[in-house]
Amino acid sequence: MNKTILVNRDNPVPSDYLNSVEIVLIEVTEDYSVPLEKEAAEKYLQLKQRLDSLGIHVEALSGFRTQETQERIWRDSVAAHGEQHTRRYVAKPGYSEHQTGLALDLTLYDARGNMVAEDDIEAHARFFPYLHTFGFILRYPAGKEGVTGYPFEPWHIRYVGEKAAAAIYKNGWTLEEYVSHVRENDEDPQ
Ligand SMILES: [Zn+2]
Repeated sequence: MNKTILVNRDNPVPSDYLNSVEIVLIEVTEDYSVPLEKEAAEKYLQLKQRLDSLGIHVEALSGFRTQETQERIWRDSVAAHGEQHTRRYVAKPGYSEHQTGLALDLTLYDARGNMVAEDDIEAHARFFPYLHTFGFILRYPAGKEGVTGYPFEPWHIRYVGEKAAAAIYKNGWTLEEYVSHVRENDEDPQ
């Protein structure tokens, strides 16, 4: 499994990629579970425990998606918001990072257990500094739409492993910039 695999608007999920990935379920409630790649799921549960201890409460909302699921999300978005909006905010089927099993959307809750609005940047920013310790990055940071192809998404995190996450965090990079850096310097990405 390639933890630093780059999937974006230009790079689809390789057709044989899922052969190397084991998907497990994160149980959120009795009747809601979120599928995620096994190592990413283990690290997410450690991250969640750490955040809970700090009074920051997150839950998994959306993890691994099949091609069929991404096709449905795309169709539903076009029907609801039109093609132009969909192209900006939704990945084309085959080009969603969620199809790797390494991407996770979080829901944030306040101390009273109420859901925090996804555009409440300040509230979400409280968990950003803890992601890299567990091998996660904020995948679509503010001001990087020109590089990642997506507007700021404070709820979408991506598992890349601790080495890559530390370098990305320290240098303020995106995954695209990290992958270019390791290629240019012929470094081991993981
Ligand atoms: Zn997402």
